[in-house]
Amino acid sequence: MNLPFDFEYYLKKKIARKVSPNFSRAEFLFNETKKSFIGLKDRVDKLGINEFNANSIIKDIHDIIIEKIRAKVLIEGYSCSGNFAHEAEIAYMKNLGFTDYELSFINQLRQSRNGINYYGKIYEKSYAGSCYKFLTEINNKLDFMFSREIIPKLKFYVVDNPDEMIRLINGFLLYSGKSFNWSRLYSKEYPEFGKLIEKVQNPEEIKKISNDFFKKLYYDKLKELEKIAKSFQIEWDKEGEQLLRALSKIVEKEWLQDWKEMKAWVSLNPICPRFIEQRAFDIYWKAPPDKMKSTALHEILHFIWFEKWKEVFPKSDEKEFEMPHLVWKLSEIVPLAVLGDERIQKIFKHEPQIYNEWKSKNIEGKPLLKYIQEIYEKRTSFAEFMEKSWEFVKAHEKEIN
Ligand SMILES: [Zn+2]
Repeated sequence: MNLPFDFEYYLKKKIARKVSPNFSRAEFLFNETKKSFIGLKDRVDKLGINEFNANSIIKDIHDIIIEKIRAKVLIEGYSCSGNFAHEAEIAYMKNLGFTDYELSFINQLRQSRNGINYYGKIYEKSYAGSCYKFLTEINNKLDFMFSREIIPKLKFYVVDNPDEMIRLINGFLLYSGKSFNWSRLYSKEYPEFGKLIEKVQNPEEIKKISNDFFKKLYYDKLKELEKIAKSFQIEWDKEGEQLLRALSKIVEKEWLQDWKEMKAWVSLNPICPRFIEQRAFDIYWKAPPDKMKSTALHEILHFIWFEKWKEVFPKSDEKEFEMPHLVWKLSEIVPLAVLGDERIQKIFKHEPQIYNEWKSKNIEGKPLLKYIQEIYEKRTSFAEFMEKSWEFVKAHEKEIN
């Protein structure tokens, strides 16, 4: 066995230091290793391992493994530097539950890579082959280090800024688009309010009535809203983590970000906007538990969808994530297929939320959602589903708009 010392040793020698977790650097490293792994696999599949590429393959394997470990070490809040940094990082694997055999193999790999870099050593293709085999076996286990604890929490709070809530309500209330008449929804949910604005035409007057009505209601109901936030939390927590884990598998995107928490704001607003950057959304106080859960899932899908989107389309413009862009529309069209995935449905059986507008849309006599469903079912990867569905909506932009 070729083992490093215990991690404690490197801490004492100040090769490893406790620092605050560096999620963004970790995410960058981890994503790089995923690309390198695909690249390496491609190379080996096409060319095999021979005496000409053995050394460079060993170096690549070393880098992929070490960088994944480094990403994990950064997430755990350590930083290693100096000549023995890699050795210290390998030592840390012991704390993560890797076996002595694995540690020893990687430590040997580290020494071999140093041999190539510093002493001009040349390795046999058989050693490169055994390293490659080792990598393919350990790769999933390494990746699993990242999917394990990074499931973010969804926390429910009562809207803490009633003025902002009312500003949003007024925005919908006075919205004068062609396809939606939101004000009817407010009158339906709050009949008393409906009576107050029934005969009022002047937008400024409607705004004033709305301000007074919702502000009073907010303070009257504050205690009740707090109770609702608590009960939503209990209800969500029953299977929330399982659902988020499934969602990450479906979208093929780890929750590897500084996403310790997502927020659901319990609000008087029956229309629930989402705020992608803050990873927050509003949730209607009167929503029954299933509706609350399906809304939450729909909104969380948006968050992870756009993260994945940026990975698949690195040049995308984040402005297009919002109404009325086609990128936004696609994000509102796909939830039926994606959340209809059995990996979600077997945890929480429900009909995914989607605007009625999309349910009734036909393209050349066939429902739009059926096309999307077919693309979903034929996908070879989630990234491919994104590409194909994007091509589809672009080709039919006119009918969709
Ligand atoms: Zn949506």
